[in-house]
Formats: sequence, structure tokens, C-alpha cells
Amino acid sequence: MSRIRSTDTGPEWRVRRMVHALGFRYRLHVKRLPGRPDLVLPRHRKVIFVHGCFWHAHGCRQARRLPATHTRFWKAKFAKNEARDQRALRQLWQAGWQVLVVWECESQDPERLRARLTEFLAPAPAPNYGLAEQHALYGLAAETGAEYGRPCRVRRR
Ligand code: ZN
Repeated sequence: MSRIRSTDTGPEWRVRRMVHALGFRYRLHVKRLPGRPDLVLPRHRKVIFVHGCFWHAHGCRQARRLPATHTRFWKAKFAKNEARDQRALRQLWQAGWQVLVVWECESQDPERLRARLTEFLAPAPAPNYGLAEQHALYGLAAETGAEYGRPCRVRRR
């Protein structure tokens, strides 16, 4: 186990540092996206959530410390958090974002974290949606699939 340094302020910080070290730049906590993702890579159309095992009810060893009192309250709270997380994921997927959830417990193993991030951030082939699905995703009408290819088009001269 690596020693915890004073600059290490938790799972999100570990993920940020690693993504940066892998050569990617990102925006933080973009409010207009569903679920307010922790890291957003607009050019790659990818987002990363860093979830605390306790609050997001991971079910791992770390998360299984349900408070001894107010058990019903906590169960309801966790269920609500989980439903909200899943809704955000669905909305992001439907809008064409690729989503990675990094759990707090995963972030504690630097090798594992690096492997997960490297795999997720590797360039992926463009999603191969049918035209009908594209219409549904973007709520637009285009003549060809190619017109949906660049959601945030940059104008060149
Ligand atoms: Zn966990």
C-alpha cells in the first residue's frame, strides 16, 4: 500500500491526477450535464464519475458499514442515490457520452486505477448508431448519418 500524502485529498483527487498524468485535459463538475459528472472530456465525449463507496452504496467491503441507527432512513437514502445515479447514466448514454464510474475502493490501488482509466480513455471507434436512433438522440432532422457525426462542430475558415 502506498503511503497517503498530505496533498492526497481523496478519490477524486487521485483520479484527476492520474487522468492528467495520462495526458488528458478535462473540465470539472459540469452542471449542465446529467448527474454533474466529476470530470468531463468534451472533445472525447467522455465523462468520469468518482463515487464514494458509502454514499453510492457500492456493496463492497468498504461500503458495508450501514449506520447502526436510523437504518430505514439510510436504506431509503441509498436507494434514492442509486436511482439518481442510474438515471444520470442513462441520460448521458442516450446523449452519446461514454461514461466511466470509478469507485473509491478502486481508486486506492494505483495500478488498477491506471489500467481502468487507460482502457476507458483509449480512442474508441465512433458509435455506430442507425439514422433513426440518431434522430432520437439529438432531436434533430438531418439527411445523412454523417451530419450527426460532429455534435459540436468547429467552423474552419
Ligand atoms: Zn467500493
